[in-house]
Amino acid sequence: MMELNFNTFTNIINGKKSPTAKTRHSVNPSTKEPNPPVPLSTKEDLDAAVSAARNALTGWSETAWDDRKDALLKFVKAVTENKDGFAGMLVKEQGKPMMFAMSEVAMVEGFIAGLASIKLEDEVVVDEGGRKVIKRYLPMGVAGGIVPWNFPVVLMMIKIAHAVLTGNTIVCKPSPFTPYTGLKLVELAQQFFPPGVVNAVSGDDNLGPWMTSHPGIDKISFTGSSATGRKVMESCSRTLKRVTLELGGKDPAIILPDVDIPVVASQIAFYSFFNSGQICVATKRIFVHSSIAKEFVSALVEASKTLKVGDGMEQGVFMGPVNNEMQYDKVMGFMDDIKREGGEVVMGGDIGRFKYKEKGQKSGFFIDPTIVVNPKDSSRIMKEEPFGPIVPVVTWDDEDEVVRRANDTDMGLGASVWGKDLEKAERIARRIEAGSVWINEHVFSLPVAPFGGWKGSGLGVEGGREGLVGWCNVQSLYVRPEVKSVL
Ligand code: NAD
Repeated sequence: MMELNFNTFTNIINGKKSPTAKTRHSVNPSTKEPNPPVPLSTKEDLDAAVSAARNALTGWSETAWDDRKDALLKFVKAVTENKDGFAGMLVKEQGKPMMFAMSEVAMVEGFIAGLASIKLEDEVVVDEGGRKVIKRYLPMGVAGGIVPWNFPVVLMMIKIAHAVLTGNTIVCKPSPFTPYTGLKLVELAQQFFPPGVVNAVSGDDNLGPWMTSHPGIDKISFTGSSATGRKVMESCSRTLKRVTLELGGKDPAIILPDVDIPVVASQIAFYSFFNSGQICVATKRIFVHSSIAKEFVSALVEASKTLKVGDGMEQGVFMGPVNNEMQYDKVMGFMDDIKREGGEVVMGGDIGRFKYKEKGQKSGFFIDPTIVVNPKDSSRIMKEEPFGPIVPVVTWDDEDEVVRRANDTDMGLGASVWGKDLEKAERIARRIEAGSVWINEHVFSLPVAPFGGWKGSGLGVEGGREGLVGWCNVQSLYVRPEVKSVL
């Protein structure tokens, strides 16, 4: 195994490290210390990456599916072999605790192997009357993969995996807040793929719009916020690029009256505050039945109190800081709005602003787990995604009412229903407008099941057969062996 060096980071274009004239850097969100320099790509750097991907396309798209799969699986094995390096860098760029950084890297191999167990093959859909029609799935061409900062390793790997399996070539763009692991993944990929198949460029806020408007890119697979997703789609429309959008969520968790309160409260605490609430499918609105509300809220507070906040390198930390200053200010803005709009803050709040200064951690973007009880349904914390460790809890009485309120959002990514009465739980679950609905769990995703959002949460899916189809042009090939005269 070749050791990767996690001190120097460059663009990767046409199989080679490609340094840029200018560099920038992000900061470690726990300490605000600068991370190493990363490229500040120009339009010309992007052009070079797109040309390399274009030149590699014919060879790669004509490579047999099984050989492409083989290269991908060898690549993910090498990622696992380098898991310590990737996880260490992930803590420094993202802020998440080491144990979760390790599990993010560790999950890659199994997840991608699951995806690679699916194969899109030619299918004869008609064979009659001397005519055969074959349905074929062909690569779209050069893809752009744009990812956010919350799960930089796994989200980048998912884009690369879809692209290379289906015979596309790709230019990857990590988030400017977390460019390090993404660039290093693509550097490692060069040992397994021909030059130009997997490229990476990193830069500032200009780079994403350059990609979505680039005439040489055929498809954009974007994961990020709904606000940016709208801009991506608008920009892609001008060149009629194909787009997949994996966007934000406002997932409801509906708690039935018969749950085992401490157990379910601990799960809700986990899925509200894991990754400091920075998960697209975190539980973001808790609807608890009024008959158990008091007891449930106390149990939720008790469970959340056990979650240690701190630098991801410290032992036993469950929640790191939020990833960046913009995100910190955004979450604090929700705290301010709660003061104006109502709701009882039963735990956390903006106290962290002072608490962490006193502890001498003033530079980190730390926020305590925050629970707000009974805000109005119309309030901002019930409507928008804070993408931080703050969650509202409201009560419900009637089944129709809770379904209506759970669906009263322009998001539709995930949802969960928790209860022992499985018939009732499933009846409610089936009425929820979201791409993934869980009963007695949340977040968990299998690569063979499509994952995506309804409404403002996205367009298209990743994972499953449908996820791979989303990277293909479909062709109907009509074959008639004999030609008869028609006159
Ligand atoms: P973001 O939209 O700010 O940025 C995402 C990526 O888009 C970054 O790489 C960024 O540089 C790039 N970008 C920014 N402006 C762009 C533009 N105009 N054109 C093209 N690219 C542009 O999102 P974020 O703050 O990094 O991530 C958090 C969001 O991502 C949350 O809303 C979260 O719910 C969502 N998310 C969704 C999923 C999913 O699978 N549905 C998964 C993870 C995160």
